Amino acid sequence: MGRKRGTWVAAAAAFALTVGMATACTSGESQAGGVCETVPNGTPVSATAAGPAGSGTKDLSTNPEIATGYRANMTPVRTHTFAVSTANPLSTKAACEVLRDGGTAADALIAAQTVLGLVEPQASGIGGGAFLVYYDANTKSVDAYDGREVAPAAATENYLRWISDIDRTEPKPNTRASGRSIGVPGVLRMLELAHHDHGKTAWRDLFDPAIGLADQGFPISPRLAGQIAESAKDLAADEDAKAYFLNPDGSPKAADTVLTNPAMAKTLGAVATEGAQAFYTGAIAQDIVAAAGRASGGRTPGLIATQDLAGYQAKKRTALCTNYREHELCGMPSPSSGGITVAATLGILENFDLAALRPDNIDRNGGKPNAQAVHLITEAERLAYADRNKYVADTDFVPLPGNSAQTLLNRDYLRQRAGLIDPNRSMGTAQPGDFGPVPLGVGPQPPEHGTSHISVVDKYGNAAAMTTTVESAFGSFHLVDGFVLNNQLTDFNADPLGADGVPMANRVQPGKRPRSSMSPTLIFGKAPDGSRGELTHVAGSPGGSVIIQFVVKTLVNMFDWGLDPQQAVSAVAFGAGNSPSTGIGGEHPAINATDNGDHDPLVLRLRQLGHQVSVAPQSSGLSALKRNGSDGWIGGADPRREGAVLGDTH
Ligand code: GLU
Repeated sequence: MGRKRGTWVAAAAAFALTVGMATACTSGESQAGGVCETVPNGTPVSATAAGPAGSGTKDLSTNPEIATGYRANMTPVRTHTFAVSTANPLSTKAACEVLRDGGTAADALIAAQTVLGLVEPQASGIGGGAFLVYYDANTKSVDAYDGREVAPAAATENYLRWISDIDRTEPKPNTRASGRSIGVPGVLRMLELAHHDHGKTAWRDLFDPAIGLADQGFPISPRLAGQIAESAKDLAADEDAKAYFLNPDGSPKAADTVLTNPAMAKTLGAVATEGAQAFYTGAIAQDIVAAAGRASGGRTPGLIATQDLAGYQAKKRTALCTNYREHELCGMPSPSSGGITVAATLGILENFDLAALRPDNIDRNGGKPNAQAVHLITEAERLAYADRNKYVADTDFVPLPGNSAQTLLNRDYLRQRAGLIDPNRSMGTAQPGDFGPVPLGVGPQPPEHGTSHISVVDKYGNAAAMTTTVESAFGSFHLVDGFVLNNQLTDFNADPLGADGVPMANRVQPGKRPRSSMSPTLIFGKAPDGSRGELTHVAGSPGGSVIIQFVVKTLVNMFDWGLDPQQAVSAVAFGAGNSPSTGIGGEHPAINATDNGDHDPLVLRLRQLGHQVSVAPQSSGLSALKRNGSDGWIGGADPRREGAVLGDTH
């Protein structure tokens, strides 16, 4: 096994150099290369396009991670039978080789996730959570896997906002960086469950690439370096994070510095040999409890106990499948609001002829969006978010109106919502539909059977869309046994009561999962009899609550405007939550972001329609794969991150 790991690391290092970890690749065609070797095309990610890290371009209300520029003119990657897109070339390569060697999409996810936890630790890792939507080609069934973090048993509804009922001050230094934000991690249990159901390659072998890289080292990518610099002060508050990410003089480690992570190698070695149990019980679990509960540096401790870890369960849920025009979309149900909010937005948009509102000057970067299209789509999003914000939370605790997603997704209801859109004026803030008060919930219901996104199709026809997260960049800034602990509990509403004094659906409750926006999505065509047809697309993105908008933009670009997956992910990011603010990604070459967009015709037109437009750079990390007729797959990775698509290229 050791020799295999060594060989892999040497080959991967060579590959990372070719890709230049997004520093050395040049524009122009770069389609040469064999299986798992094609170099992603496009100009380098430049920290200058959107301003270097720490230059104040970050907008934390919308971007959990820093924006690091835009690789213009990326071309799609075409593959024969399998393909994978992740946010980092080393992770893509590890997953691709699993697929090449006969592994399934479920196998590939494990290699991809464990490598991502090393090379993109700001975004995801085994100390976080994930959602997975999986298609099994044999049974033609779609499963949704929930590896979301849970609140510890000791969490009260004021856990995030008060140190205690007696000391009613905010946890120190703030909720996110205290131990209070840390939920019981879920990703490893979820991957183990998916592997049990759909794996083919031996579990232990899937950890080889990450263990090899952890042992022998990997270069810090420009994006990771930018995020370390941005977070240096917070990382310095944790002794282990400080030693790993900062130089002895306290300065942030720079891009290309080689990092080794023996603690992670040991952790992954134990999980590879003993299974996820090694993480949830025994020494690693005790280390997590100690790290979350440590009051060092004045941090308020979290109250996770070893029983919380030992009792963690990944859940298999019923995927939320809905129709949009001639497509069937399958997404993540609660506790993610992603599936339902994407479906509601598209259900409203079905009432408009979007195809007539194509972008202008469509090029490799997707062209310039049509102002009326942006108006309609953002208004639909406002309406969908209004319902999401009021009604959607962990349905194991708080049921949806009518006890079913279908109430909020009913076609007639969505047609009525569409009727609220004025083509000439933004509504600013939408009102939620009236389904009565949010039910209090009675406690757990019986079980139904910084973020990164991974899209995979394997040669057997299976597919996986998995979005994985530690929540904000570097989570809670706690590092233990080589991995970052999440701050996922900040996805709960810290205040249990809303403005009207009524309990919030998404308040903290022990054992509850915080509402997410992650929207991993699989898309199918329709068979002639109207039943589920062929799998046609895989998509998803990081981006906090903006994920929903990133995914909607990508789907509309592919479905209504016929763009290929690379154009669709490259295309201008636009969208709105339920507020008067509309985001138009200023990092995109088609947007003139100078003087706050004052010279850009799209921005000016939207302002005339009443939108408060922000041109802050967007930090999506989209990936999309699309079936290319009978010819295989065509894939795209987000030019705003360092991702790559690989497969058995033509
Ligand atoms: N924690 C967020 C969610 O689950 C994702 C954060 C991100 O995308 O960076 O919705």
